[in-house]
Amino acid sequence: MFLTDPGATPYDLRFNLFGFPIRINPVFWIIAIFLAPHKSPREAIIWCLAILISIIVHELGHAIVMRSYGARPRIVLYGFGGLAVSERMPTSWFQNVITSFAGPFFGIFFYVIIEVVIRQFGMPENELLYWFVAYLLTINWLWNLFNLVPIYPLDGGQISRELLTRFMSASTGITVSLWLSIVCCAVVGSYVVMQTGSTYNLILFALLGYQNYQTLVAYNRARKG
Ligand SMILES: [Zn+2]
Repeated sequence: MFLTDPGATPYDLRFNLFGFPIRINPVFWIIAIFLAPHKSPREAIIWCLAILISIIVHELGHAIVMRSYGARPRIVLYGFGGLAVSERMPTSWFQNVITSFAGPFFGIFFYVIIEVVIRQFGMPENELLYWFVAYLLTINWLWNLFNLVPIYPLDGGQISRELLTRFMSASTGITVSLWLSIVCCAVVGSYVVMQTGSTYNLILFALLGYQNYQTLVAYNRARKG
């Protein structure tokens, strides 16, 4: 997913992976602990580790493709997921679509590898390892499917905007992609909230829908003004 870079803080954790600078904003850990399904400290740590690995794999997908297009991306993890950013982003619509798609693709590929290994060898006997693998499977499946829904600014929303502006005029494409995004927030959001009964999900989809509506209003006003 791409959003704006939240800016550096003195509490950021920084390291390099495959030549990509990675920076982790402290809010990332707060949200991860908040979302932990089991509240025992040991399982919460395992959960945070599974979220960390899953999101890095997803962002590596974006970053590797961006680098292949000549960009020099860095990865930032913050409250709501992560992002791969570069001073020089890919320029063509096709490169943008492939870059957006690469994150969910890497994540789902990682999920498939774990699934194949589990089918071959079974789930680990050790209780903590068992939870670690179970969390990795759940997070990778749900996070990457969620990111493919055509809601802006998720990867799916970036892809739908690129494709719609390619096949319609730029202004119609942007307007249609924002409406599609709002409808998906309502439809997919209602489905997810009914399935999970989670207030967190309700807030998430409501905020995304509202943000998209605000963007649509601002866009229409700017076009008329
Ligand atoms: Zn992404």
